[in-house]
Amino acid sequence: MGRVYNFSAGPAVLPEEVLKEAADEMLDYKGTGMSVMEMSHRSKAYETIIKEAEVDIRELMNIPDNYKVLFLQGGASQQFAMIPMNLMKNKKAAYIVTGQWAKKAYQEAKLYGEAVEVASSADKTFSYIPDCSDLDIPEDADYVYICENNTIYGTKFHELPNTKGHTLVADVSSCFLSEPVDVTKYGVIYGGVQKNIGPAGVVIVIIREDLITEDVLPGTPTMLRYKIHADNASLYNTPPAYGIYICGKVFKWLKKQGGLAAMKEYNEKKAKVLYDFLDQSKLFKGTVVPKDRSLMNVPFVTGNEELDAKFVKEAAAAGFVNLKGHRTVGGMRASIYNAMPIEGVEKLVEFMKKFEEENA
Ligand SMILES: *Cc1c(COP(=O)(O)O)cnc(C)c1O
Repeated sequence: MGRVYNFSAGPAVLPEEVLKEAADEMLDYKGTGMSVMEMSHRSKAYETIIKEAEVDIRELMNIPDNYKVLFLQGGASQQFAMIPMNLMKNKKAAYIVTGQWAKKAYQEAKLYGEAVEVASSADKTFSYIPDCSDLDIPEDADYVYICENNTIYGTKFHELPNTKGHTLVADVSSCFLSEPVDVTKYGVIYGGVQKNIGPAGVVIVIIREDLITEDVLPGTPTMLRYKIHADNASLYNTPPAYGIYICGKVFKWLKKQGGLAAMKEYNEKKAKVLYDFLDQSKLFKGTVVPKDRSLMNVPFVTGNEELDAKFVKEAAAAGFVNLKGHRTVGGMRASIYNAMPIEGVEKLVEFMKKFEEENA
């Protein structure tokens, strides 16, 4: 049994080269006689792994010196609480609700203060990004929150909101390292790595130093304070060590591919293959407003639930797996992250053409 084309939204496909390298190092990591999984997180070997990972992501994203990079646990969802606990000095924040993950973050923030929904695309099943050029943002809001790429609905902010001087906080879980970003436009960029970078359990937080303070909401657990992790270089307690090691390998793989500008070019080319097909197909159609389409998650439907189910089943049998849409939206979704080769998308489109002919 060979490898399949895995279109899962997450955990998702990783570069084969990285998996092979990790397999080679499984029993004996660089002459240490042990696996990275068995190694002290305070050892010399591990110190090199985590330090190199940080250096490499800094280089890839061109992260300025006044930002910390934290490797934490708890997934992206833990950040839904950690962000308000650490940043809500005025107990007020503005949320732009463009999908389920943004909504969850918004609802979580309400546990800690006044979360104000300043824009939403719920009226059209989150199939577009609302105009965020002139939002009514409360003067005293501590931050403006977005989910930059909406994994479930397949939309992406191609232009950041006008925060009117407020700190921007972005969940980039499903578009992490898929294209260059200007880090200086954000106060916090964070993402769970299982979509585009590595194994589930690691969340990377890139945070501007002035936002890391002792002044957190009363009762904030030690483990949920950015400061404790920043002061201890992500080694306050045992980090998700093996996961970080794989992330590090993916960073090196990305550098070898030419960095984020090259990834963007590749991802655009790859997504175009699928979107171009969808735009001329008589059977399949994309569900997102074209200008807000994601390069990473591509939802589509036939308009007939039975036919959708038939497609998902036949595609899986042909080696194209995990194409079923999210349980809340139905239809199909192809997640085509960095590690999905363009051949995977080309072959999927060939299969879709064949299915269309057979089911006309
Ligand atoms: C998957 C996902 C999450 C949730 O991640 P967990 O690590 O499971 O908590 C949050 N935000 C976005 C955009 C996601 O795609």
